[in-house]
Amino acid sequence: MDLDRLDLALSERGEPRFRAAQIWSWAARGAPGYEAMTNVPASLRDALTETVPFSTLTVSAERSSRDGTVKALFQTHDGHPVEAVLMRYRDGRRSLCVSSQSGCPLTCTFCATGSMRFGRNLTASEMLDQALHFRRVEGVDHCVFMGMGEPMLNLDHVLGAARRLPDIGITHRRTTLSTVGWMPGLRRFVDEVEEPIRLALSLHAPDDAVRSEIMPVNERYPLADVLAECRRYFELRHRKVFVEYVMLAGVNDRAEHARQLASILNPRIFKVNLIPYNPTGTFEGSSTRAIWAFKSVLDRAGIPATVRLTRGRDIEAACGQLAAAPRVLGATLRS
Ligand code: SAH
Repeated sequence: MDLDRLDLALSERGEPRFRAAQIWSWAARGAPGYEAMTNVPASLRDALTETVPFSTLTVSAERSSRDGTVKALFQTHDGHPVEAVLMRYRDGRRSLCVSSQSGCPLTCTFCATGSMRFGRNLTASEMLDQALHFRRVEGVDHCVFMGMGEPMLNLDHVLGAARRLPDIGITHRRTTLSTVGWMPGLRRFVDEVEEPIRLALSLHAPDDAVRSEIMPVNERYPLADVLAECRRYFELRHRKVFVEYVMLAGVNDRAEHARQLASILNPRIFKVNLIPYNPTGTFEGSSTRAIWAFKSVLDRAGIPATVRLTRGRDIEAACGQLAAAPRVLGATLRS
């Protein structure tokens, strides 16, 4: 729900101060609507149903993957598409992938979101409503801001949402912001955020030449500056930085790239997550063999590295596939 609008509606009615927190607490625990809030007076519940929509988003489609992943497509009140994904793991972990913008103004060549039209920044309430959509179905305990959009371009709203996630069941240590290295936002994140929220960097290349080729943003904020900022995060906050590295055949996946990557990363500070490329049309993904060969070079250099388990690829819910185009959300929609 739009929490600013809720505050306004409550103060206009002269409601006591504790009401907003009371109502939020119900929503955060997965209440299906105002009618379930039994300690809120019925007249107020009715009034809110009329004036403050229970969610800022409407669900336009939902698809489930064979692996248990669910992708929801929403619309904002002004018609912008937004996607979020719930990943279910065997060990019981329930991880949400939330969008911070509708579309993305950056144009990373391997990412489907970059090829759709940029809509706008999402509000904190719109991000929380993505989480609550899934929370109403089951408990959730992890959240990554790795859906559509660049969180550091919308930092205030992203933090507004992240700071309320513990009420939904997701602690700060289980919350991760992922960035291409948009420096103004990243600098603020490092300086201002005292909560133990985790940082992930979409690096994807070991030098400026390769990185600029696949991520135009690198022309503006070169790799050395971005890595220096991540080191500052570590010095200040004592938390490691996750490096995301999408494996593109012949582009960034050779042994020399792995050696170069190892040479620019301090293993005390960085952990690498190798991401199998999810097809978006432009590139060829590295073979499984190439990915493990790359990892073994990092292993030998003492750089902690894992290979990301790909989820939801059969429903275009995997990293980089969130495009919200009707073309993608094809004929097999559930609802
Ligand atoms: N803009 C932020 C948040 C989005 S995170 C960022 O880029 O970090 C989405 C992650 O998925 C990023 O690491 C992104 O680089 C990765 N990704 C994008 N396209 C992909 C693809 N086709 N296959 C695998 N990973 C991809």
